[in-house]
Amino acid sequence: MFKSKYVAKVYEDLCKKNEGEKEFLQAALEILESLEPYVMKNPKIEKEKILERFVEPERFVSFRVCWIDDNHEIQVNKGYRVQYNSAIGPYKGGLRFHPSVNASIIKFLGLEQTLKNSLTSLPMGGGKGGSDFNPKGKSDREVMAFCQAFMTELYRHIGPNTDVPAGDIGVGGREVGYLYGQYKRIQNESTGVLTGKGLTFGGSLARTEATGYGLCYFTQEALKTLKHTDFKDKTVVVSGSGNVAIYAAQKATELGAKVVAMSDSNGCVYDENGIDLKLVKEIKEVRRGRIKEYLDVHKDAKYYDNSKQIWQIKCDIALPCATQNELDLDDAKTLVKNGVIAVCEGANMPSTLEAAKYFIENKVAYGPAKAANAGGVATSGLEMCQNSMRYSWTFAEVDAKLKEIMVNIFKNTYATAVEFGNEYDTLTGANIAGFKKVCEAMLAEGVF
Ligand code: NDP
Repeated sequence: MFKSKYVAKVYEDLCKKNEGEKEFLQAALEILESLEPYVMKNPKIEKEKILERFVEPERFVSFRVCWIDDNHEIQVNKGYRVQYNSAIGPYKGGLRFHPSVNASIIKFLGLEQTLKNSLTSLPMGGGKGGSDFNPKGKSDREVMAFCQAFMTELYRHIGPNTDVPAGDIGVGGREVGYLYGQYKRIQNESTGVLTGKGLTFGGSLARTEATGYGLCYFTQEALKTLKHTDFKDKTVVVSGSGNVAIYAAQKATELGAKVVAMSDSNGCVYDENGIDLKLVKEIKEVRRGRIKEYLDVHKDAKYYDNSKQIWQIKCDIALPCATQNELDLDDAKTLVKNGVIAVCEGANMPSTLEAAKYFIENKVAYGPAKAANAGGVATSGLEMCQNSMRYSWTFAEVDAKLKEIMVNIFKNTYATAVEFGNEYDTLTGANIAGFKKVCEAMLAEGVF
């Protein structure tokens, strides 16, 4: 598996210390495998034990979150924050509220985030956090009570120059608002301690759209460079129907594509006439309903009781925007057999490592998550910038900066892939390009 004894030993030790942490070890394996050629060229990395330090989070906190539900019952959840790496800037990364959240998922996301943030070219270190709290089916009051309880512990670990959380799965504008309100109440200061805030209290225009839009800007550049084409008249499938999926579908449509399928954790909808995005927004953003409800209006569309069915639908471009490991090797084979030319990831680690490798081997324009979905955190970086200046840019200004950042991420990723021998291996390209900067900063800052 590894050519370098040093890298193999780092991975072996990591497995021993983090037994059973499946997602974390999967992400670490992917990263270590692709960093190998760079590590072998730079002996200082082994001498200074950079890899050992890089894979170990600087700090990991886990805490109890107690709150009272609408039946006056006390509820107890687990809260987490990982402050993974601050070599290039304050920790930065979202909060995920989902019943599946555990230490392994938070650490995998934090490790990925460190490289992603580096790729944006903005000075942000890597962090991530969340809780096993499930916002689904909870009243607004319950969500508020939970967010206030969560922040009552988290506030002591974060700050605008220390660690700046944002949203992720289950944490959108509503949750960020409650979290921010509680931080302000406790600290008595208005500061850019969270991003993804509402527009009336320091949020940035285009933050809501940023991850999905950024994904399409990245995909467009990949299509141009690797396939000499663009979105126009292409058939697209987008998994998920949350924040990332909705705005990816919107931008792909604006760029001339036809989005024919979307999904949620219960199933997927196929509409050969093109997905009615206004309706999806109404179902998911307003009603917080199920994607199945799409058929109440579009009776000629098809619904499959299985989210993974989406990868069976013939398409030119696939944008996985739901969750980790939603696309495995069999799904990758089906997509390739059906003629897919680009697969770019809006979600974090949606493809298994085998699936990602299959895309690369088969010359699919593959966009690994840490590069392709970095538009969200990049725009969060722009929100931090506006908060520091006490100023707001227009939507067009933020969107133009986002586009420039995404094009540069693709160019940097692609150039590094070419440098290391395979223009389609953007996985190696993204990992090495992101790691270089973190590694240089760690070497310069001394041992800690
Ligand atoms: P949301 O909570 O807004 O949406 C998640 C969506 O994925 C929901 O539609 C959910 O459906 C669906 N989903 C969950 N599990 C599955 C599954 N197994 N199969 C199909 N659909 C599923 O989250 P986001 O859109 O914010 O995040 C999506 C992904 O993008 C995550 O991996 C996140 O880490 C990543 N990401 C998000 C960023 C952001 O700015 N928001 C930035 C960078 C990455 P249901 O309603 O049934 O749960």
